[in-house]
Parts: sequence; C-alpha cells; structure tokens
Amino acid sequence: MSDSTYIGRFAPTPSGHLHFGSLVAALASYLDARSVGGRWLLRMEDLDPPREVAGAQDAILQALQTYGFEWDGELVRQSDRHPEYAALTERLFSQGLAYACTCSRKQLESHGGVYPGICRNAGHDPHDAAIRLRVPELEYRFTDRVQGEFRQQVGREVGDFVIRRRDGLYAYQLAVVLDDAWQGITDVVRGADLLDSTPRQLYLQELLGLRQPRYLHVPLIIQPDGHKLGKSYRSPPLPADQAPALLLRALRALGQQPPGELASATARELLDWGINHWDATRIPRSRTLAEAQLR
Ligand code: GLU
Ligand code: ZN
Repeated sequence: MSDSTYIGRFAPTPSGHLHFGSLVAALASYLDARSVGGRWLLRMEDLDPPREVAGAQDAILQALQTYGFEWDGELVRQSDRHPEYAALTERLFSQGLAYACTCSRKQLESHGGVYPGICRNAGHDPHDAAIRLRVPELEYRFTDRVQGEFRQQVGREVGDFVIRRRDGLYAYQLAVVLDDAWQGITDVVRGADLLDSTPRQLYLQELLGLRQPRYLHVPLIIQPDGHKLGKSYRSPPLPADQAPALLLRALRALGQQPPGELASATARELLDWGINHWDATRIPRSRTLAEAQLR
C-alpha cells in the first residue's frame, strides 16, 4: 500500500542520548512511514537548554545514522522556532484564552499536579509570570491505532496547563502542536508515556483550527527493577557496535517477526526487511514492556 501523503516524524529531546526505548519509538515511526512510501522527518526538541546534555544532539544524529535511519529534508530545531511560539503565546494571551500565573511551586505542591485555577481571573502582568492556557470542562478523546480509545477530562485531570514557563521557556505541549501542524505531520508515532499528553494537544489543535493527526503510541520500554518510570531507569545509550542486534530486538518488541536468517543482517538490511513486512496491528497493546523480557 502506498500513501505518498503520509508524513511522520521522530522528535527526540536532547536531554540525554538515545536508549533502547527511543530506538523502539524511532523504528516504529520510521517503518510506519516508509512502509507506505511516506516521508519521515526529524525534529530536535531542544526547548529546554538547562536540561540539555552537552553533545547529546550530535550523539542522537550519529546514533540514528549508525542504526541506518535516513530522514527527509533538513533537521528542524525547536530552538529556531521561538518567534513562532512567542507570537502564538501573545495571541492566546491577548484573546483571553491564556493568562499569567505567578503561583510558586510550593503553592501548587498540595494539588497533586492539577492546577487549581488560582490565577485564572487575577489579571496578572505576563512578564515574570508563567502563561497558562484556560482549559474547558470537556472530555477529549481519540482512538489510538494501537492502544484503542483514550479519553481525558483535561480540565479536571490536568487543569489549565503551562504554555510558557516563568523563565521564558516554551512548553512541549505548545511547541509540539504548532510544529506537527507546520511540518504537515499526518501521523504521530511515539512512546506511550505521551498518551496522556495527547488530549491537551487535541485541545490546542481544536483551539487553533489545526488538523488532528492520527496517533499510534508504542509501549514504553522499562527496566524491570520495580522503580518508577523515569530517565534514570532508562537503558544505557545505544551502543554503536550492536546496531543489528538491537534493531532485531526492537523489531521483536514491536511484535514483528524477523526470520532467523536475519541474524547476520546489517542495520540497513534489517530496516529494509522491516519496511517490507511492517504490520502495526502486531504491536503489543500495552503501555509498558519490561526490557529484560525482550532479550
Ligand atoms: N520530544 C519528546 C520526547 O523525546 C517526544 C515528543 C513527541 O513525539 O511528541 O519524549
Ligand atoms: Zn497561579
């Protein structure tokens, strides 16, 4: 099947190196795009310089190349898009769809991550304040291609969320929606840790009159040590000298069934096999997979 209108993307954050879980997400989005003759774009989500690890951008690009991935067009960096994020934030603020919030972290601690609306009608000055989007008391839902129906009462479960931090940095939710639309992304394929960000993104798309892409969330790969999910329990950086072995493991993690004779294939041969045999319906319908079970 060929769908030359398909545009997918991989959007790593350079807060660390690629690990096995990122490989699984990159592979799924790449194969989903290429198996239908679609385009596959690369976007560096470098929105947060304080959290950026020196050298991570180069290491990510290097790892993608070593693992055989080829992207279309120029790499996009979100750090080059600040004027667009600023213009949108100003527009939402001046239309009253967003407001300034001066709450301290301490003030919000006891609210379990749901913003209680303290500054909603305070009319604070937007300088030296976070900017939050007003969220309606509505349910947002979508049907994920793997995880099925997902719904969230964004107002009740998340509350008015930040689109620009007090330190002036733009939030992932704002940037991802604007950039997916700007790049013409038709299909978002990414890790299931972002499943519960999706309703916020649907709300922003609706607000801005943007087309909603299709979504496919692949299981998050976790270390089976019983700790909470988090960066520190992710796998180590992808080793350059084990690309074929890890691609094979990633294909299996995605429910694909590479035959035994691929054991000595190159990275590129494995990707080509994956393109020709990709079956997204085989992806496990699970939010997490324990890495040890995939070895
Ligand atoms: N930059 C995000 C991450 O690395 C992914 C964003 C997305 O795919 O929407 O977790
Ligand atoms: Zn506030």
